Amino acid sequence: MIDLRSDTVTKPTPEMLDFMTKAEVGDDVFAEDPAVTAFEQKVSAMLGMEAGLFVPSGTMSNQLGVKVLTNPGDEILIDQNGHIFNYETGGAGFLSGVQISTLQGKKGKLSPEDIKNSVRGGFDWEPRTSMLCLENTTNKGGGVCYSKDELSSLKSFADQNNLKVHLDGARIWNAMIHTGIEPTFFGEIADTISVCFSKGLGAPVGSMLLSNKENIAKARRFRKMWGGGMRQVGLLAAAADFALDNNFSKLKKDHERAQRLAEAVDGCSNLSIDLNSVETNIVIFDVRNESAVEALAKLEEKGVRMVPFGPNTIRATFHYQIGDAELQKVVDSVKELFD
Ligand SMILES: *Cc1c(COP(=O)(O)O)cnc(C)c1O
Repeated sequence: MIDLRSDTVTKPTPEMLDFMTKAEVGDDVFAEDPAVTAFEQKVSAMLGMEAGLFVPSGTMSNQLGVKVLTNPGDEILIDQNGHIFNYETGGAGFLSGVQISTLQGKKGKLSPEDIKNSVRGGFDWEPRTSMLCLENTTNKGGGVCYSKDELSSLKSFADQNNLKVHLDGARIWNAMIHTGIEPTFFGEIADTISVCFSKGLGAPVGSMLLSNKENIAKARRFRKMWGGGMRQVGLLAAAADFALDNNFSKLKKDHERAQRLAEAVDGCSNLSIDLNSVETNIVIFDVRNESAVEALAKLEEKGVRMVPFGPNTIRATFHYQIGDAELQKVVDSVKELFD
């Protein structure tokens, strides 16, 4: 089975497992796990932030970002396609007591123009607009990236309007590869950043919240409250560390393979795709004469898995455990079924 449902389906390699067994571990609830502490320092320095907090999932690091940057009753702004709004089980309302105002951007990206009429005026009877959530790369938006200029202008807008910025960087690594933006720049435009090691980098588990020391100290308490304090978790930090060192540069290949699939899809009379939306490892396309579920069942018979992303929409996501031979099989199957 060729599994393009997500870049989270990778399995640890023998080399990664071997590296994990060599980690020097301790009880991280006591802040005594050398592998975790070193990895938090490494990643926070890489992204130009003071401190980091290793957590089980990107959902937890996003929710911790919302928690430390807002007060109950606040309103947060996010593109309507944002992960925090769509795929985190309503956590922001439940855990932080904030309400979400969704905005219509382009392919999951916002601009100051999209936001400018949504910042509240500060009357007693209005919620306080306190935070802007950005996603890079966008997931539901097709994996597109913000340019440096776009991020700078959003940061200026946020500063002028007293908004904190949370960056959902589950796939920030793909954005770095595609845009060439230096990693420390992201620390300049955001107050908190969430990054995932369990997507295209290929770690089995693990995400990190990055921010200043004060916010991370606050987040550490909430991580414990929410059940995310982990003990000898250096084993997992080691896997994430191995993934970052060894698989980061492989993302470029995923992007090239996604392009090749996108071009094949574009050539099929029964499929349609916006080729401009394919910048990284995600390919989102539409099926013309049947439902996504029907089309996916046919692909499954050919040994190819993707996911539905709407009634007629399908998403395929590349990762380093899909090579050129697998890609060729996917392209052949797509052409056979849909051209
Ligand atoms: C995957 C993902 C997350 C977090 O996912 P978890 O499954 O909780 O690790 C957050 N944001 C985006 C954009 C994602 O794609």
